[in-house]
Amino acid sequence: MTDPKDTHALHRDTLAVREAVERSQYGENSEALFLTSGYVQPSAAAAAARFAGDEEGFTYGRYGNPTVASFEKRLAAMEGTEACISTASGMSAILMMCMGLLKSGDHVVCSQSMFGSTIKLIGSDLAKFGVESTFVVQTDLAAWAAAVKPSTKLLFAETPTNPLTEVCDIRALADIAHAAGALLAVDNCFATPALQLPVHFGADIIMHSGTKYLDGQGRVMAGALCASQQLVTDHFLPVLKSAGMTLAPFNAWVVLKGLETLDIRMRAQSANALKLGLWLEQCSTVQRVFYPGLASHPQHALAMQQQSNCGGAVLSFEVKADNPEQARARAFHVLDSMQTLSLSTNLGDTKTLVAHPASTSHGRLTEEQRSAAGVTQGLVRVAVGLEHIDDITADLARGLETL
Ligand SMILES: *Cc1c(COP(=O)(O)O)cnc(C)c1O
Repeated sequence: MTDPKDTHALHRDTLAVREAVERSQYGENSEALFLTSGYVQPSAAAAAARFAGDEEGFTYGRYGNPTVASFEKRLAAMEGTEACISTASGMSAILMMCMGLLKSGDHVVCSQSMFGSTIKLIGSDLAKFGVESTFVVQTDLAAWAAAVKPSTKLLFAETPTNPLTEVCDIRALADIAHAAGALLAVDNCFATPALQLPVHFGADIIMHSGTKYLDGQGRVMAGALCASQQLVTDHFLPVLKSAGMTLAPFNAWVVLKGLETLDIRMRAQSANALKLGLWLEQCSTVQRVFYPGLASHPQHALAMQQQSNCGGAVLSFEVKADNPEQARARAFHVLDSMQTLSLSTNLGDTKTLVAHPASTSHGRLTEEQRSAAGVTQGLVRVAVGLEHIDDITADLARGLETL
């Protein structure tokens, strides 16, 4: 397979600021925001052809919009895929993927350390409609291979994972999926195309929560699937048209502009995260730090090779404690001692966001699902932002030095 970078004449940095639908007749330099739910058709015949899909042209806001199309075009170019289809949120992108590819009796293999709502959606909500699923240890390739059955249609991984930053071998998972006649989807929220191009390693579908780093400043919800034109046209677009998880034009415009600074933000925030990880490893009250950029990370070498030599901007750490109750109290103390950083379960913001996954993002899971995901009571997740590193460490030191 050729490097997707080579399939475009322009570099990814250039595409991030230039790739979009054509300018309007006014010649605006910044991409236009088209707030319209409907379109005036040039003729009855053209309207018929557009609705039939025989001619290009916008027909109705649920089906498409020029600002939304600009975002999709730019993200596809950055991920190196033929096409992209956007949705109102990351979760609705996953719903669209599952509705577009699966029917009752089909089987999905997922990492057990995926985003909490993803586990809930696939493991519980879709189970009601007869979709079967098996959740496996993210890093155990043999477990992925063993879970595959004749009815398996999809393998779905997230790398690095939230919140433990486990890294899986995308190439190896793609080989397992393809040998079984299944597709591999990768949730690329944490690394983003700035650091990791899953298509380059054989993934078929790249899923995004645009709410995170693509926007990058914590403003809007958005989601997307990047894939071949055939998957988008034949499997995902029909779901969008009938189910209507459409991305709003304003949100698309915000995320479109966010893509322009994605690379520079990811690199600066990742550099801060590495410094924070090194500092936390020296803290006497910290039991363990989870960060792919650290030599102590079990998949450090794989992460460096797969993620452009960069650990990403999210890390987690566990406070030292004798039992789960004490661990929870200590983690809460660290969070409640902060004066600068935000206590927030979101991530992908220029502001550093600190959260306690066990009681928030992973709070809806059963104790069994939670411990399978390795989310202990002492775990604190930090989505590192753009503040000065000394201010970030000083704010965490307030709690960590008074445990
Ligand atoms: C936030 C997130 C999602 C879900 O995205 P929403 O935009 O909140 O619906 C999925 N996967 C990961 C890794 C996330 O961080």
